[in-house]
Amino acid sequence: MRDGQIIVTGGSRGIGAAIVERLTAAGFTVAVLSRSGECPAGYGIVCDVADEASLAAAIRSVAERGPIAGLVNNAGFHEAHASDRITVEEFERTMRVNTTAAIVACREAYPHFKANGGGLVINMASFFDKLGVAGNVAYCASKAAIGAVTRCLAVEWAKDGIRVMNVAPGYIETDLNRDFLAKPKVRDWLATRVPVKRPGQATEVAELISTMFERPIGFLTGETIYIDGGQGMNH
Ligand code: NDP
Repeated sequence: MRDGQIIVTGGSRGIGAAIVERLTAAGFTVAVLSRSGECPAGYGIVCDVADEASLAAAIRSVAERGPIAGLVNNAGFHEAHASDRITVEEFERTMRVNTTAAIVACREAYPHFKANGGGLVINMASFFDKLGVAGNVAYCASKAAIGAVTRCLAVEWAKDGIRVMNVAPGYIETDLNRDFLAKPKVRDWLATRVPVKRPGQATEVAELISTMFERPIGFLTGETIYIDGGQGMNH
C-alpha cells in the first residue's frame, strides 16, 4: 500500500470510476466523492461538490482517516445552452461544478498537503477548453477557466511541494455522451475528425492520471496535457 490517500471527485461512474480502479490497482487508498456515494473501489463519501459545505466536510472526513497525498478534481457537468438565451443561473450551474468546486477542493486540501510535505492535484478539463463549440458557452468557459486555475495554483503552491496539473480529454465514451456518440452520423464524423479514428476509453485517461501519481516528475507542474487522439490539433 502506498503512502497517503488520493481523493477522486465524481469517482462513482465514467472516467472517475476508471481512475479509482486504476489507482487502487496501483496500491493507493482512494476516497471517492460523489452524490450517490457509490464507489467501484476504495471508499465512498456522499458529497455534492456544488455545495461548499458538503465538499469541505468530505475532505475533512478523508483527513481524519489519514494523510492526503493527492486530489483528482474529476466531477463534471455538461449542459447545452443557446448563447442568446442562457440564463446566469444556467451559466453558473456549470461553472460551479466544473470550476468553483475544484478551487474549493484545492483550498480545503491545501493544509493537509502541506502537513504531508506536498501533494499532487490533477484537474479535469476538456479539449473544448480551446475550441469554439456552438451551444457550449458555459462548458467551454468552465474548462478554459480550470486551466487558468491550474496555472495559478501551480505557481502559488510550488513552494509547498504541491504540483497542480490539468488533463484535457477529447471524446471519451461515458454516460455523459454515450447516446451522442452512438449516432451513426457522429461516429462517421469522428472517424474523419479524430486522427486515431475513434473516441477514447476511460481506461486510457485513467492510465495517464495514475501514471502521474505512480511516477512523479517534480519539475512538471501547471501544464495541460491533452489526451484526445490528436483531434484538437488536427487541421
Ligand atoms: P459522467 O457523467 O459519466 O460522470 C460524472 C461523475 O461526476 C459521476 O461520478 C457523478 O457522480 C459525478 N458528479 C457529477 N456531479 C456531481 C456533483 N455535483 N457532486 C459530486 N459528484 C458529481 O462524466 P465523465 O466521466 O464523462 O466525465 C468526467 C470528467 O471528464 C468531467 O469533468 C468531464 O467534463 C470531463 N470530460 C469528459 C469527456 C467525455 O467525453 N466523457 C471529455 C472531456 C472531459 P454522481 O452522479 O454519483 O454524483
